[in-house]
Amino acid sequence: MIVMDNNRNSCNPDGSIKRLGSLEPVCNLCHSEISEIGHKKLRVECLNCGKVFKEVAGFLDLRIRSDRYLSLNQERQKAERLSHYESQESLEQLTRRYYQITADVSTERRERFVRHVLDAELRGAALLKRIPEKATILELGTGTGGFMGAALKAGRNAVGVDIASRWLVVARKRIMEMGFQSPATLYPACAEKLPWPDNTFDSVVADSLLEHLENPESAITEMFRVTKPGGTILIWSPNRYWPGVDPHVGLFGVGYLNRSWAEKYVQWRRGDIHWPLSRSPKIWSKMALEVLNSSEVQYQAADFSGWPITDKSIRARIARLLGRMTKTPFMSIIMTQIGPVGEIRIVKPVMDLDSHHMNQVEVF
Ligand SMILES: [Zn+2]
Repeated sequence: MIVMDNNRNSCNPDGSIKRLGSLEPVCNLCHSEISEIGHKKLRVECLNCGKVFKEVAGFLDLRIRSDRYLSLNQERQKAERLSHYESQESLEQLTRRYYQITADVSTERRERFVRHVLDAELRGAALLKRIPEKATILELGTGTGGFMGAALKAGRNAVGVDIASRWLVVARKRIMEMGFQSPATLYPACAEKLPWPDNTFDSVVADSLLEHLENPESAITEMFRVTKPGGTILIWSPNRYWPGVDPHVGLFGVGYLNRSWAEKYVQWRRGDIHWPLSRSPKIWSKMALEVLNSSEVQYQAADFSGWPITDKSIRARIARLLGRMTKTPFMSIIMTQIGPVGEIRIVKPVMDLDSHHMNQVEVF
């Protein structure tokens, strides 16, 4: 049991602390309990295999590696550097600060990303509407904390992880700015090696994550592992066949090219930007079915109908309209094919445990 008030409890706006109890992380290698060692700096050790986990920018670092952009050391330095400004700057300033210390992003893209960061909570609220109210939630790819912000505001019991601790610094800022006196439970961790035991969460969600992973199959397997039997995995991912502007590279029609032409085209138009491996919801579902083989997997266009009506922007109006369209029989078919975002829902069967048990009974 580790006690670390600034990172392991979610706080209500009035400052009262809500313990998360069973959602405590474990060793990412052997899934055994971890315990705090040392006094000055946060250091945690696995009670079984002895692996030691250190702190990064106030977070418990549970990663096995870094993302494709930075080495683990560079990543840690960047997060520390950003957290240095955290207390004096607003969410917007801190986001701009991030790009200031990231030289290789063009001004046009930077502005698009900053807008995206500031809007993220609205999209998070729409996604949250798709999850049962009492569910314990794990969010993968927390990024700048749009979903986590919406979840905390709604009083949900949620934990967020991201491979980039630098983005979690921004997420923490968002949560503090919302009036929570202490940040939510945020952990740098890898989607392919989650630091939780089997069957921990009622719901596992990931928005715009899978397309960035080199090995999405292992992330799907891990999501499934930490989901309780009867629990749900909900995935949102940009649809490759959306005829509008690609959200990552800002170009039309990229997804209609084959992979190598798409990459050449993006490179020609945008320089060094990487095009994530966007897929259609149908292809993601197929992958999930293959990886998990016995599960219930459904797909459709992402249901944005829960987009907060307080948001009157054009984008929000379109999102709500698209959300309503997913509920009409004919339009939903078209939306599933070419809507901007796909939604994949996986239910973990309760049967597995029972059938295992029955087999044992038969044997004896
Ligand atoms: Zn261990």
